[in-house]
Amino acid sequence: MKTHTTDDFTYSVTEIKPCLADEKRIRVIASFEADLTPILEILFLHLRNANYSRSLACVTSKRAGCSTTVFGSGKIAMTFLKDEQEALDQLSALARTFTKAFDYLEANGSPDPNVVHAKENINALEIHKLLPRTDCGDCGESGCFAFAIVLMNGDRDIANCEPLERIEYSDKRNALVRVIQPIDLDATKDGCSDLAEFLGLKI
Ligand code: SF4
Repeated sequence: MKTHTTDDFTYSVTEIKPCLADEKRIRVIASFEADLTPILEILFLHLRNANYSRSLACVTSKRAGCSTTVFGSGKIAMTFLKDEQEALDQLSALARTFTKAFDYLEANGSPDPNVVHAKENINALEIHKLLPRTDCGDCGESGCFAFAIVLMNGDRDIANCEPLERIEYSDKRNALVRVIQPIDLDATKDGCSDLAEFLGLKI
């Protein structure tokens, strides 16, 4: 079992098995030697297509068929990967994200529980309000509501709705980005207040 280190973390791949959904793909278990519990909510608010389980103390995000679950214990479970190198690349990217999340925690403290609760309860109806609602079909979906559903599931990205790039929809686009990603660890400003305002919350 080879260990890998960054400035902040040591981690290793502990298990590689064929993926249940596709035997040509692999699923990987890895372990970070760190307590990730303090940053789980930050990761949940940063990752666009994420679910948060308090009871299991984990955050799961999905992208392009792959699923990654980060447990507070440091365990990482990844599915539908092409090969071990892809797993290592993703673990390296996760380590960088964890560093940013701990930096965010140090600078801002834990996220407001209302914002966490709000993102947990965002649904396709609310996402739909922030789309152009022209049902033009340019995204390949039958209409804007269908797009809202696949966007929430992580099967599509905001960029797949080209009309949203138009100047007339810039407010909606900005609000949509803030709603599905209240904390952007790659930006200086977070969108927690935008999400709260959109949902009529006081934080
Ligand atoms: S491209 Fe955008 S505006 Fe057109 S149907 Fe899809 S989500 Fe709606």
